[in-house]
Parts: sequence; structure tokens; C-alpha cells
Amino acid sequence: MMSDVKIEQLLSCDILELSEVEQVNFYLELVDFLQDLDRIYYDNNDPQIDDNIYDKLKSLHIKMITVYPYLKEHSKYYSTVGYKPSEKFNKIIHKVPMLSLSNIFDKDGLEDFIDKIRKYLNAEEDQFIEIVSEPKIDGLSATILYEKGVLTQAATRGDGYQGENVTENIKTISNIPKTIDSLDAPDRFEIRGEIYMTKSDFIKLNNKMVSEGKQTYVNPRNTAAGSLRHIDPNVTYSRNLKFFAYTWGDLSKIPCSTHFDMINLFKRWGFQVSPYTKNNKSLNQIYESYLEMNNLRSSLDYDIDGVVYKVNSIELQNRLGFISRSPRWAIAHKFEAEKAITRILDIEVQVGRTGSLTPVAKLEPVNIGGVLVKNATLHNEDFIKGINSEGLSIREGVDIRINDLVEIIRSGDVIPKVISVDKDARNKETEEFIFPIQCPVCKSPAIKERSEVTGKMSSTRRCTGGLYCESQILGCLEFFVSRNAMNIEGLGGKTMQLFFDNNFVISPSDIFTLEARQRNKEINILSLDGWGDLSMNNLFSNINERRSVTLDKLIYSLGIRHVGINTSKLIAQQLNSLQNLYEIIAEANNDYNKILNFLTDIDGLGKVAIESFLTFLTNEENLQILKRLSDEIEVRDLDIVINPNSVVQGLNIVFTGKFNGMSRSEAKDNAERMGAKVLSSVTSRTDLLIIGDEPGSKLKKAKELEIKIVTELEWLDIVKG
Ligand SMILES: [Zn+2]
Repeated sequence: MMSDVKIEQLLSCDILELSEVEQVNFYLELVDFLQDLDRIYYDNNDPQIDDNIYDKLKSLHIKMITVYPYLKEHSKYYSTVGYKPSEKFNKIIHKVPMLSLSNIFDKDGLEDFIDKIRKYLNAEEDQFIEIVSEPKIDGLSATILYEKGVLTQAATRGDGYQGENVTENIKTISNIPKTIDSLDAPDRFEIRGEIYMTKSDFIKLNNKMVSEGKQTYVNPRNTAAGSLRHIDPNVTYSRNLKFFAYTWGDLSKIPCSTHFDMINLFKRWGFQVSPYTKNNKSLNQIYESYLEMNNLRSSLDYDIDGVVYKVNSIELQNRLGFISRSPRWAIAHKFEAEKAITRILDIEVQVGRTGSLTPVAKLEPVNIGGVLVKNATLHNEDFIKGINSEGLSIREGVDIRINDLVEIIRSGDVIPKVISVDKDARNKETEEFIFPIQCPVCKSPAIKERSEVTGKMSSTRRCTGGLYCESQILGCLEFFVSRNAMNIEGLGGKTMQLFFDNNFVISPSDIFTLEARQRNKEINILSLDGWGDLSMNNLFSNINERRSVTLDKLIYSLGIRHVGINTSKLIAQQLNSLQNLYEIIAEANNDYNKILNFLTDIDGLGKVAIESFLTFLTNEENLQILKRLSDEIEVRDLDIVINPNSVVQGLNIVFTGKFNGMSRSEAKDNAERMGAKVLSSVTSRTDLLIIGDEPGSKLKKAKELEIKIVTELEWLDIVKG
């Protein structure tokens, strides 16, 4: 269940508020987590989390690289829809991709869906577009190919573009016809639908597991997935899986003109289709179908988690097509979460990889919709107090205390959450929960900050321990070796985790002593799984290539909050050498404000960043870590040679958009060499904005401020002189 907390931390993060260092750290954390999930699924045939949550994490990932495209450089992990297909099965490429549906959660969402369709099709006022509704079965999707009436191939959804060949397993499912004996069946057609396990079969299976002294399964859906993807088709057979047909993939000929007729045809061919499939002719009818399914939900012998709406006319479906990864003509209307009342036994505060303190309620275990819930997230300090992220009161301002009776909500989409507190049931002796102001892991001060972007006080308290907080070290180390930081190839992700778990690397300096320690037999890298002489020596040479680094890279690599690439550069330009850096830190210990003012004077450096920088390095533990590191490497002073005759000398310039003839970093380096200061945002102090393709909001702002704007080509002319 602890991964629930992690998921909550990831999903509740407002990514627009992240500083540059946090963006990278958060991104790496997300990718790590997704990779773990994929690996667990791949190794054990067992999806550990709900598909919906997995999809949410995936879309968060896509959102991250959309908002911060540079993050793509930090990891190769992107652009998949579902689980990676396992290598236990052959892969099958879907001729027609199996993409996922977007979700809506209320009637407004439904109206919006219909509205968009009407607008897109430019429909007449009085013409209603027929919408088929059907229950959304909570199982896993599969596609089954019939050629000349014979089942020849079946596959899982996989990542949406290629799935696993599970033909033999699918053939064991009793309600899937192996042959179709019907004149109107096309020569070649692919039936798609949901494989599921009934609730009663699930309970039977778990009873059997208990009687055999084995561990029980978590829920019918995961069990169905594991059963279908079992290496032994006999096991699949023994699990008594079922199948509902609800759509199709590749067809040699489309025999009908509407979705509804197709479903009826499937039924005639011998497939089980949902008896609740309905063709609706008005918005009210659609919504009534939804309410009806919601009422029926608990009485069905299989889990459903919502209702799917599809445009009935196939011709219109084709016209509507796709928007990003989902069809424009279909959507899933999710049911509301299920609730229960229970008691909070304790409140535990956990520290995430980016240092955020997350409180978790330990609950008296309670059954919600067939799942035993033991933890609920309490989000952050303010949430416990009864305040939301806008500073407004929630739960009528009632705080949350240990021993409180609370209402918990859970659905496939969200981590169990506390939605209300029964204040009347509260014992007079219970005390207000005091949120720790020290990190529970490393005892460093845990502080709240004001957002650089919005100026609002954060609801989240964060540990300031950085490189020596056990919860943050691994994240810091991964950041340290990442591409824009020290750029040590072959040491990211799983390797760093492995070295960390084996205590080979627990601080950045350890990276540079690996080779010596290996030689002195203090550690044995070769004893690790998958490591040989060649890979080890490659790693050593990659590390040795990075033993010399400029001051700005070094500062950036420390992963100090709010100290991104640009800030690191500006600080490094001001300080010039590592020696000077040590001197101002020593001085800051005596007269903090003097140094704060000295650094805040630099154009483009914000107070938040400077404070964060000073807080980090005036912390003796962090300073020692930096000193140990600098003993192992050569830190070069900044080697910018400024051309005194440059026309842009002293100007504040900003780059925006995509450049064709040069990379952004090359452009920046050039500008700096010519004595310009490259800043990240357009302000009244900006002298020059250089625009590439798709320049966006910076261009608009520059125009408003009447700042001089030049194109990439014009800029190149300036550079050439
Ligand atoms: Zn800490």
C-alpha cells in the first residue's frame, strides 16, 4: 500500500509550480516509478496498480514533457500508452491501434462531450447525434482475429500499438467462439472487448488460496490480467475468465453502418455482449442510462467502473477521428468513488525524494468496494489543519486528529482520501496534530517556501537536508549524474539504485572513488548482477571523462532547489572560482544578509534562488559533502572570454522558440561569450529577444514591453559581426 502514498505524491504535484531542479528531480522520480511498475508487470504478470492510475501517471509523464520538453533529454522513457509487452510472449503489432478513452466525471463533462462532437460535425440545431452507452467492464482489453471464420490469433492491448500474443490462452476462455459459422462474417475480422473475472469466481479463487495457505489476490481485474498472461494456458483455463465483445479492430469489410448493429451482429455470431448496451437519442436518455448503470453496479457479478459513450454512426466515427491518443467519438463516464467510515489510528509523516513531507493516516482497516483500505493520504500540513492549497477552509475548517472518526473515499482513480471528520464523535482528550518542523528522517529543518511563480506560500513543508537526507540522497545522486548535470553515462536510473543499495555510492564524491575502491578490493562491482569487466571499465572511463567540470555545472549538479542551469551560471559568473564560493559561504555564516545582498544584486538572480543556495551551503553537512567532492575532481573557473568589441556586450537577452541552425545551449554560450547576459524570462530590463519558431508567450510579452525583437537569422548576423 505504501506505493499508494508515492502515487499520491506524484499525482498531487502541481507541476507548473516546480522550480527547474525540482522539474528534473520530479521527472526522474516519475520515470523511475513508471519503470518499476513496468518491470513488476513484466516479471510477475501482475499489474500492481490500477490501470486508471497507471494511465494517470502516464499522462502526467506526457504533461511533464509537454510543459518541459527539455526533460526528454533526461530519460528515454516516453511515448507509450500502456504496459510494455512482455518478452514471455511474442509481440503482435495492432493493425488498428488499441488506444485508451478519455474520462469524464459528471454531467457537465457529458454535455461538453456532446457539444464538441456537434461543433466538430457542424450539426444542425434539431439533429441529435445518436450515442450508444454501455457499461465499462473493469477487466483488460484483448483483440481476437478470425480468418475465414476461424480464431487464428489473439493479443493483449500492450502499449496500445503492440501487444502480446496470447492466442493459446484466449482459446481456453469458454465464452469466446473458436469458429464463426455465419454467412455475413467478413473474411477477416478482429473482435475487441474485455476479459474479466466474475466477483463470485474471484471469491472462490481466494477461498481456495486461503485453504491452501497461499496469499490471496487483490482484486478481480488484476487477477484476470495475471491469469490471461500466464505462461501456462492451463492456468488461464482454470481461472474461468469471461469475455465481453464491444468493438472491433481490423475488418476486411464493415457489415453494418452503426455501432449498435455491429454489437447485435457480434451477438448473433456467438459473442457475449453487454445486455445493457443502449442506443440513446437525447442527452437526457444518455444520462438516464448512466444513472441506471450506477444503480445496477453493486448487483452485477462483475466490476464496472463507469459507462462508455460512443457515437453510433460509423461514418460519423470516421469523420470525428482521433484527438491525440483517444478517439473523439467515444468517452468513458466514470462512477463516483465508494466511501466508508473508519478511525485514524496514527498519522505518519513520510519524506519524498524531493524532500516533501507527506502525512499519511494509518486507518483501522476498512473494506471499501471489496478492497481492504489501511492508509489514506492527508496530502500536507494545511490539509490536516482544514485549509486547501488556495488558503480557503475545507471540511468547514475542521482539523484532523489521531483517533478521529473519518469518512474515506476510494475509487479506481484515486488513492483513499479523507473527505470528512465526525467532530461530534471526537473524544475531548484528543489533541491537535502537531506537524513536525524537522525532517523525520534527517532532523534538518523542514520549511515552507513562497512559490517563485505564484508568490503563494506552499502548503507543503520540505526537508532542507538535501544531499544528506536519506530520503533524498538517491534522487540527488541520480540528478547529479544526469545529462544536463555531470553527464556521467551509464550511471543513471537502475545502476545508481543498485550502487546505492549496495552502499557503493552514498555521496557524489563516492562516484569518483569507485575505481580506486574496486582496485583496493573495498567493493566488488563485479559481484553485482549483470556486471562484467567490460561494463565496469566503460563506466570507469565515463566517470574519468567527467573529472573536470566548470563551476556552474558543479553548482547545478548539486540539485539545490530553485538553482537551475541559468541561476547556476549567473552565480558562477559572479563568483568566478570555487575558492571564492567557499569564501562567501564562510562569510555568509558570519553576515548572512551581506552575502544575500551581494548575490541578489546580480541581474536575473531571484531572492528565492539565492536564499535556497545559501541555506543549502551554510548547512555544514552539505558543505562537507561538496568539499569531499571537490577533492576528487578538478573544478575549472569559468572560461568565458568576452569579446570587448561585441555589440551585445552587457545586454540582457532572452531566447525563445525553436532554433534551426543552432541548439539553444550553443546560442546561449555564444551570447555569453560576447558579453551578453542570457536570462530566462522577459522583463522590462530585457534588451533583446531572439525568437526561433513558435515563440509563444515571451514574444507577446516582449511586444507589450516594446522590447527589440530579432529572428534567428538576424541574430546570426549579429554574432558574425
Ligand atoms: Zn531530511
